[in-house]
Formats: sequence, structure tokens, C-alpha cells
Amino acid sequence: MSNFPQCPKCGSIHTYEDGNLYVCPECRQVLLIEDLCRQRGIRDKVELQLIAAEPGPMGVAGPAVSASVRGLLEARGIAYLPEHQVSGVDPVAKRLHFTNGVEASFDLLAFVPPHVAPSIVLRSGLAGDNGWMSADRNTLETKWPGVYALGDVVSFPLAMGKPLPRAGVFARAQAQVVARNIAAKRRGRAATARFDGHGMCFVETGGGKAGIGRGNFYAEPVPTVALHAPGRLGHFAKVLFEQQWLRGWACCAGISPRRSIARRGSAPTCRRRKRARRIGCGRRCRT
Ligand SMILES: Cc1cc2nc3c(=O)[nH]c(=O)nc-3n(C[C@H](O)[C@H](O)[C@H](O)COP(=O)(O)OP(=O)(O)OC[C@H]3O[C@@H](n4cnc5c(N)ncnc54)[C@H](O)[C@@H]3O)c2cc1C
Repeated sequence: MSNFPQCPKCGSIHTYEDGNLYVCPECRQVLLIEDLCRQRGIRDKVELQLIAAEPGPMGVAGPAVSASVRGLLEARGIAYLPEHQVSGVDPVAKRLHFTNGVEASFDLLAFVPPHVAPSIVLRSGLAGDNGWMSADRNTLETKWPGVYALGDVVSFPLAMGKPLPRAGVFARAQAQVVARNIAAKRRGRAATARFDGHGMCFVETGGGKAGIGRGNFYAEPVPTVALHAPGRLGHFAKVLFEQQWLRGWACCAGISPRRSIARRGSAPTCRRRKRARRIGCGRRCRT
């Protein structure tokens, strides 16, 4: 499944996702490709398809959100082909093979490969039979005291039968919980931070607009997630979110955030610098 073909003139595009494991959010990439084709004036020459193993896009967020995302795709002329799990790619013949026997051709393939835990985790014995680590879904502590699992490497089954989506927002929120609890324990305090399953994601639709999906993925029997229609405010919120990440990285890498994001936003405040020192990256921070 290597040597994927280069884009010749921007033909048809296929993406897929891995079984019922949802990696956030495949649909956005095809929406951005669609927007790019429109900007270049070639949209009418391009056929776009999103092919997925799931019965509906963002199915883990519930039927209403799934229908909204499907509506976003179809309104832009992007065909959605559900319940098609890729079994192989022939890059020479430019053909996709699916487990149900169906085949499809493509000119450009945007492909999300099967998701697996890093080999070091698999070899270490930390992962279970399903290939993923497991942990308490609120404290992130594993069955080994003092060992935590967070982000893509851990699987949290939801009451609806699917695992918590793999998403950067969850990895970040989980990391904050673990960091706070470790810090509290080291100070002799109670470790009270909990990951509560709340999360949000931006569904960038192009044209300077983004939708915002937000909700509680731990809600039972099904996650309670709402998708706010794409708008300029959603895109602006995403830009601010991105700046926050860039500031954090620049600060921890010892790069002056003032210089590195000079064209993107303001430098961290004194309060942020003090906090950076408190959590241990202050010595390298040159701000
Ligand atoms: C195409 C795509 C689009 C996405 N879009 C979004 C989005 O819009 N919003 C969102 O919230 N999420 C998104 N996600 C999901 C998000 O990227 C992941 O959930 C998130 O990065 C998980 O963070 P992590 O730290 O657990 O794992 P990773 O980000 O994968 O970090 C793990 C790190 O460990 C390193 N590593 C592995 N093995 C070793 C080793 N032996 N030694 C040292 N280092 C090692 C890897 O190189 C990697 O840097 C997207 C994912 C994909 C694939």
C-alpha cells in the first residue's frame, strides 16, 4: 500500500476510515480539497468522493450530526459512499479494492491508513489483545500504578459500542488531567482532575468558514454532540486555537513566541510566562 500516485491534474479523490475507529475528521480534508478545486476554477472538471467504512460520517457523534455532515458533503457535490472498507490499493492500475468485492478507480487518492498503536507499545506488553492500551476513562491511569495512557494509543469503549474518537483535542485534555494529577501527587495533594469526555472539533469547510462540533462523548446511552453550522466565527475560533498551540510549542522549544508568531498574533502574557516557569519549561523560554 505504498507508492501512492502523485496528483496528475486533480482527478477523483478517495479517502476512507478504519472500521469503526474514527480518526477526527476525515470529512474535513475532502471539503478543503473541494474548496481548493473551486479556487482554482477546476471544480466542474473534478469528481470527488468520500469513501468510508462507517455507515455515516462522524457516526460516533450521533445520527443528527452525521446527517448534518453528510448534508455538508452533498451540498458541495461530494458523493459519500458508506460501508466500504478498503482491502487494497493498486497504485499502478489506480484502483481501490474493498472487502465487499467492489472496486473503484481514482486519479488522486487521499488515504488515511489503518490506525495501529506504535510497535514499541505492542512489543512492551502494555497493549491488550485488541492492540490498544486500556486505562480508567476519567483518570487515565492504567492497571499499573503510576502508569497513564492517553491519546491515540488508548481505547475507551463508549456505551454506544464504538470507541472514543481519536482526536487531538482529547489527547490534549487527557494530557492536562494526567499532568495535573501527577503534579498534585508530587505536592502531596489529592489528585482530583478528571477527563469527562467533553470535546470539540472544527469542521473546516473552506472559503474561510468552519463548523464547530461540540459535546459530551461520555454521555449515555449515546454521545450528546451538536454541530454548529459553518461560519466565519468557527474559522476565526480555529485560527485562535491554532495560535494557542503555536505559542505553547514555541515557548517549550525555547523560541521566542513573539518572533515566531509575530504575523499571527500577540506574544504570551506575563501570566502565561509565569505559568510556563511553574510547569517547568520556563528556563528554556526566552520571552
Ligand atoms: C489525517 C488526520 C487528520 C486529523 N485531524 C484532526 C483534527 O482536525 N482535530 C483533532 O482533534 N484531531 C485530528 N486528528 C487526530 C489527531 O492527530 C490525533 O488524535 C492526535 O495526534 C493524537 O495524539 P497522540 O499524542 O496520542 O499521538 P501522536 O500525535 O501520533 O504522537 C505520538 C508520537 O509518538 C512518536 N513515537 C512513536 N513511536 C515512538 C518511539 N518508539 N519512540 C519515540 N517516539 C515514538 C510518534 O512519532 C509521534 O510523534 C487527525 C488525524 C489524522 C490522521
